[in-house]
Amino acid sequence: MNILQECQGASRIAITGHVRPDGDCVGSCLALYQYLQKKMPQARVQVYLERPGEIYQCIKGCDKIDSQCEDTDPYDVFFVLDSVPERMMEPAKKLYDMARKTINIDHHISNEGACDISWVVPDASSTAELIYELIDKEALDADLAMAIYIGIIHDTGVFQYSNTSPRTMEIGANLIRYGFDFPKLILETFYQRTYLQSQVLGRVLLESIRFMDGTCIVSCLDRKIMDFYEVEHGDLDGIVNHLRNIKGIHCAIFMYQTGVLEYKVSLRSDEWVDVSRVAAFFGGGGHMRAAGCNMKGTFHDCVNNLSLHIKEQMESRLSALEGEKTGQE
Ligand code: AMP
Ligand code: MN
Repeated sequence: MNILQECQGASRIAITGHVRPDGDCVGSCLALYQYLQKKMPQARVQVYLERPGEIYQCIKGCDKIDSQCEDTDPYDVFFVLDSVPERMMEPAKKLYDMARKTINIDHHISNEGACDISWVVPDASSTAELIYELIDKEALDADLAMAIYIGIIHDTGVFQYSNTSPRTMEIGANLIRYGFDFPKLILETFYQRTYLQSQVLGRVLLESIRFMDGTCIVSCLDRKIMDFYEVEHGDLDGIVNHLRNIKGIHCAIFMYQTGVLEYKVSLRSDEWVDVSRVAAFFGGGGHMRAAGCNMKGTFHDCVNNLSLHIKEQMESRLSALEGEKTGQE
């Protein structure tokens, strides 16, 4: 796909991502925004996203994000990044429906491509990596490089998860040549937590419960506790990774309450479980090792339903391994 060719003649271009935008979502939307502004100065380019967390305010263009979507004029091109169209914020949907051309750029294996043009590459570490591949490299400057870099580090856990490829590292190397302060960026957007965020993390770990012979773990935050610590969803990013990092765990579940008997569920795993399949069953999606969904019911109902699917996958892997062993004997 050639972004500029697809936007040729467009005077109004919109960009959006998914609800509760994470680093890759904000980074890739603002990278594309900066790029189009540079290459198509005559066009109006607008990013529609829920307000990104404070840590992302350092990205150029973050202050131009519109979270209200009160515009009623149709857009010539409407980009949906890092998401399927159904997962964009509600107020942007009417603008999406009116758009003359819709383009989807994503790396979620669960995305089946619903736009006029869909560029879905499940092997890519992040949507930001895809944006890097699609742009003319001469347009890169420190601001654009930084926006892409943020997207990549957040989806790869700073080049740590299995979605990091040699190409991801090459791109990272090219980006830091533009001279932005990457150690500060990594510290301040990825590792640093406020005191309250750290206390919540501690509480989640303390209250976690292991099950299935200690191979799975779950922890849940209800609204009362979130209010007590004055945390919102953006403060909880990364918590699930601490559960997954516990020795012996193949699958970690972190849930927080979003309404009465409603939870946002984050799933992380190793090679034992494909959590994108588990999440997809409950109407969510994601990647093999990191996925999410929204569920209704009591905490126990949700965990019971999730664990049925996790158990099924673990058992079939176990019997496949045993079959291999017997075959070798
Ligand atoms: P999270 O657990 O929210 O950090 O999400 C892990 C991965 O799954 C990310 O790539 C998300 O974009 C994706 N994801 C989370 N929730 C959903 C959902 N409801 N539908 C589709 N993908 C999701
Ligand atoms: Mn992503």
